[in-house]
Amino acid sequence: RAKHAGSNVFRFYSPEMDADATRRLALESALRSALDNCELAVYYQPQVSLDSGRLIGMEALLRWHSPQFGTVSPGEFIPLAEDNGLIVTIGEWVLKTACRQARRWLDLGIGSPLRLAVNLSARQFRQADLTRMVGHALSDSGLPAAALELEITESAFIDDVDQAIAMCHALKKLGVKLSLDDFGTGYSSLSYVSRFPFDKIKLDQSFVCDIIENPVNAAIATAAIVMARSLNLAILAEGVETEAQARFLRGRRCDAIQGYLFAPALPVNEFEQLLTGRQTLPIADLPSVGENT
Ligand code: C2E
Ligand code: MG
Ligand code: MG
Ligand code: MG
Repeated sequence: RAKHAGSNVFRFYSPEMDADATRRLALESALRSALDNCELAVYYQPQVSLDSGRLIGMEALLRWHSPQFGTVSPGEFIPLAEDNGLIVTIGEWVLKTACRQARRWLDLGIGSPLRLAVNLSARQFRQADLTRMVGHALSDSGLPAAALELEITESAFIDDVDQAIAMCHALKKLGVKLSLDDFGTGYSSLSYVSRFPFDKIKLDQSFVCDIIENPVNAAIATAAIVMARSLNLAILAEGVETEAQARFLRGRRCDAIQGYLFAPALPVNEFEQLLTGRQTLPIADLPSVGENT
């Protein structure tokens, strides 16, 4: 089959390629009206401190429930929206929606002292008016700037590092926090990361998923934690699914975790229940640092 041939080989038409392209086009067209048709929703995934076992914040994650396609994964539609530029409008909607929601939880007395993390795509990051847009989202919602954290991946600054550093500083001037998402998947060296005014590093889930069985990933995770601590950055591990992983990370002095061990991204009402009933999380029962690691 031509589809599975090497990349330098001329690709012949195949029915699968046709199906992929057709789905892509149909998804793009459906995504264009998804916002107006109220098919998009922001879900919230808890972030938990490994010291205290307490909730420290939540990441806003976009969900698309399409009448035509069912639930479409962000892994599929975010890259599409990034390519066709829709991510700029959608991303602004996510930020505004999440900031208003976080403000509402503060008003209800259940939102403090949590920090809201929102993803910024590379395309958004290159918008000249990004700081103005973020400033608007804050003033419009009344969310204190210090309660907002923007997550950026390396792909946002490979093009022009100096300009990216300037953008990060402009964002920091608003009073928001910055985190480096999916750390370890790109090419970030220690010196490179330290040039940016990040507050936090998010260790990518690809290192966390087999941290117990895979000594290489365990070593990489440990090195990332040591690096973050020596640069005075907070470090959070993504994709923590088991107690063994949480214990390992706590033993290595990782600050916080996010993952199915505690909860997936939840719709507003479910996250609100979690906020209302919060305090002791399962993680608080983990053995203390050093035990079993
Ligand atoms: P991300 O920012 O690295 O988000 C973490 C992803 O890991 C989320 O996938 C989350 O649901 C998933 N996850 C969390 N805990 C676990 C776990 O224990 N195990 C596993 N296997 N996965 C876990 P999701 O929601 O499918 O989002 C995928 C990516 O799409 C995000 O990666 C982010 O890059 C992008 N994305 C999602 N929402 C937005 C958004 O509003 N704006 C932008 N620009 N990108 C977004
Ligand atoms: Mg993220
Ligand atoms: Mg990530
Ligand atoms: Mg990711």
